[in-house]
Formats: sequence, C-alpha cells, structure tokens
Amino acid sequence: MTALAESPAGLFAGHEVPLGLYLGGEWTHPGKTFEVLNPSTGQVLAEVADGGPDHALAALEHAVAAQDAWRHWSPRRRATLFHRAHALLLERADAFADVMVLESGKPRAEAAGEFALSAGFFLWYAEQIAHLHGTFAPGSPGGYRVVTTHQPVGPSFLVTPWNFPLLMVARKGGAALAAGCTAVVKSAKETPLTAALFVKTLHDAGFPPGVVNLVHTSDSAAVSDVVLADPRLRKISFTGSTGVGSLLLAKAAKHIVNSSMELGGDGPFVVLDDADVDLAVREAIACKFRNAGQACVAANRIILHRAIAAEFTEKFVAATKELKVGDGFDDGVDVGPIITPVQLERVQSLVDTFTAAGAEVLAGGRRVESVGNFYEPTVLRLSDADPALCNQELFAPVAALFTVDSVREALAFANDTSYGLASYLFTKDLSRAFAISERLDFGMVGINRGIMADPAAAFGGVKESGLGREGGHDGIYEFLEPKYLAVTVNEEEVGE
Ligand code: NAD
Repeated sequence: MTALAESPAGLFAGHEVPLGLYLGGEWTHPGKTFEVLNPSTGQVLAEVADGGPDHALAALEHAVAAQDAWRHWSPRRRATLFHRAHALLLERADAFADVMVLESGKPRAEAAGEFALSAGFFLWYAEQIAHLHGTFAPGSPGGYRVVTTHQPVGPSFLVTPWNFPLLMVARKGGAALAAGCTAVVKSAKETPLTAALFVKTLHDAGFPPGVVNLVHTSDSAAVSDVVLADPRLRKISFTGSTGVGSLLLAKAAKHIVNSSMELGGDGPFVVLDDADVDLAVREAIACKFRNAGQACVAANRIILHRAIAAEFTEKFVAATKELKVGDGFDDGVDVGPIITPVQLERVQSLVDTFTAAGAEVLAGGRRVESVGNFYEPTVLRLSDADPALCNQELFAPVAALFTVDSVREALAFANDTSYGLASYLFTKDLSRAFAISERLDFGMVGINRGIMADPAAAFGGVKESGLGREGGHDGIYEFLEPKYLAVTVNEEEVGE
C-alpha cells in the first residue's frame, strides 16, 4: 500500500472537513490527491486523498475485523450511540448544508432540506434498532419449534452518487450500521467532502474503529473491483446509474454477494383531465427542477391529457420562466448548476437532438453564459411520444411535455420504459387514482404530489430501476438475513 501520512483538513465556508481517507478509526492520507470543483464557479474547492485498491482493501480488512464485536452490541447500546450521532448531526446542520452547496451547487434551501431528510433517515434507523422482530411457530409435523431471527449480513460496501451527497450516505450508512453490519463507504468523487463530514460526525459520536470506513477515489472501477473480488465482503448497496449498477451486479455474482441497487429513473408525470391544474403545475416545477433536474425521481416525461394540456402548458412555462438560476448561496436562487462541464455539454446535445427531431422550445434551451455550469430551465413540447425520448433519463433541467387523448394512452406511454422508479399521477378522483396507480409499473406513485421522499416510506424501484428498498420498515432488512432455528421439543415429556 502507498505510505499513509498524517491527514490534513480544509476549511470550507468556515467548517473544518478532513481531506483524508478514514480507515480503522483514523484519518490517513495516501499522498496522492484529486481535485474537487465548485460547479458554480469552476474553481478548485479542495484536493482530497485519492485512494486506490490497496486502501479499499485495507478499509475492508478493518470492516471485517470490527464485524464480530459490532454485531454483538446490544440493540439498546447501538441505538444509544445512534441517538448521540443524530444529536451531533443536528448541531452541524449548517456545516452540512454549506458544504453541499459548495461541492454540488444546489441552492442553500434545498441543501438544508436534504440535511433535514438525511437526519430524519438516521433517526428512523436509530428507532428501528430496538424494534426488530423474529417469528415463532410449531414445526409442521410437531416435535420441534420454528424460530426465526435476523442476523447482520456482514461487511458491506456502500457506493454512493453525487446528486444527493448526504442523503445517499446517511440512508445507506444508517441502515447498514443499525442492522449491525460494518461498512466501507465509497464517496462520489464530485462530492467527497459531505461524505467526510458525515463519517467525521460518526467518529466524534464514538462509533468504534473499523465499524465505518471511508474511501475517496478517482478510480471507482479499480476500487470496486478489489472489494467485490474479496469473498469476505457480504453485501453491496449501490446508488447510481443503471449502467454502473448492472456492471457491479455482474461482479457481485462471483461470490453471490447480497445486492441492493437504487438505480436510474424515467418518471412519468401524468396529469389527467380532472386534475387540479394549479397544483399539478406547482408540483411539476418542484419535481422537475429540484437539484437542476439531476434527480432519479425527477419528472422525466410530463404526460398531459388533451383537455388540460393548453392550460397546464401556459402556466408551467410561465412558472419556469420565473425560476432564478445561479450560485446556491445567492438569495432567491431556485436552480443551481449542472454538476460538471461534461454533463453540461450532454444537456445541450440532448436539447439539440430533440429540437432537430421537431421539439418546440417553449422556454430556455441554452446554457447560461457564465463561469459556472449553468443551464436555462427549459421546456420542450414534443408533438407525439417521441420514441427517442422514451426510455432515457434526462437528468437535466429540461421538461419534456407530451399530449395524450385518453387515460389508456397515458398509461401505456407511462409504462413504456425499461425503468420503474417513481411515477406521478394528478386527478381529483381518488378511486380512479388507486385503480390507475395499481397499473403503473413503478416502485412508487406520487398521487397529487411531486415530492415523496420520507424515512417512513420504502424507497425503491422495479424493473431496471433497482433491487430492494431504502427506508420504511424494509430498509434495515436489506442488511439483515433471516436465520431459522429448528428446536426439538419433546411434547410428551416435561419431567418430574
Ligand atoms: P454513476 O452510476 O456514474 O456513479 C455512481 C457511483 O458509482 C459513484 O460513486 C461513482 O464513482 C461510481 N462508479 C462510476 N463508474 C463506476 C464503475 N465503472 N465501477 C464502479 N463504480 C463506478 O451515477 P452518478 O452520475 O453519480 O449519479 C446519477 C445516477 O444515479 C442517475 O442515474 C440517477 O438516477 C441515479 N440515482 C438513483 C437514486 C435512487 O435512489 N434510485 C438516487 C440518486 C441517484
């Protein structure tokens, strides 16, 4: 392994964040670094430690060494530690929000919202720790009892994306550690500072060495390869694109590693003829432009019943034109930058492709001339369900509007995708909403709302949007395995 030096920290908006790797309870530095850029200014924000396969392996070794003791902590003891960490997280709310604005560019208010949701997930898991149940039943033929309990899966590899830098780490980390698994967290290279602040908070709260480890890297594939090739790893939980998820699943197959996958989305946002149009417009703006459209659950195809299409379009375009684009620290900013210049290019070529195919530009359509990676909030009207647009994640502040003539047509178009994460339905008729939502092939349906993340809800997708759920009652069980004990009982004999 590269020699590890004492690890430095940096000051970001006045908050101290370690720049090293966190291995076995210590911040260490391999010497090599990579740059983290501020997407609003294009300037270098930090040079963080660039870990390689050796560091990932060291992180896994620490996780393996700590696993046995950690799983035997009593639920109450573990829950108490979680509550201490939750209290510390709350004390650092401003630091988390500021650092997220700096490295991801999201507006300050959105960053504060992400912090609140992340802390909420962590608290949810803290509350679950002491509430896990097993089952007890008579054996079918008699003569024994069927007892099931749950045991931690084992050392876990948590791979996270940049778009929700705290939520993704806290949602996975909370579930894994609450279940009694130890973890190696791999940050996203665009947003390592938020992950470092989270792990530092767990350290300061008193999480034992090796229980959580953090690796930053500029070479994700090399790091993932070595971890997934090691039979001591028992779990991977990944959030990111479907393409990378599929690659990692193939690698996890070698040692039959338990896998949870939160992948991409192609969310239909269906507005029916009897919808409250003003409500639908408000929710569509939030659902589409939050995080500059860079969200797995963003409205990808806005599908309008012809009866309300003109009214919705007029109001939606007017509301889009009101959105203020800029640095997340500036007052009143609604939409921040695209994460990298490469992604900004991708957004422009996406819009060019659609306009060349006949899409009408109703708002935006160009990058903002500035040093940052800003793109105008854009609305495109597609005359028909353009097959080129179906089945691809826009991941951009670009709204695509389609018009349909019937509920059946809306449903068929909504389901015509290989993805199955979030979907949205707007109608005033709740009975109709239930009937239609049962026919939507998605893991989640927002009924008359465009934002639905909640610690109490099981978040996740079907089809190529993933495997497993995060949050709700199911999230912690992604990191637990049932264990069945057959206990012989002599029913005829109780003794003297
Ligand atoms: P990404 O797939 O490029 O990267 C995700 C993670 O995988 C990062 O840590 C990255 O460093 C790592 N990675 C990239 N290539 C790899 C490789 N070849 N081998 C191993 N690891 C690799 O995704 P992204 O651009 O960071 O995030 C955007 C994607 O994430 C979108 O598709 C979005 O829909 C999805 N997402 C899904 C959810 C969900 O909960 N379903 C939430 C947020 C984001």
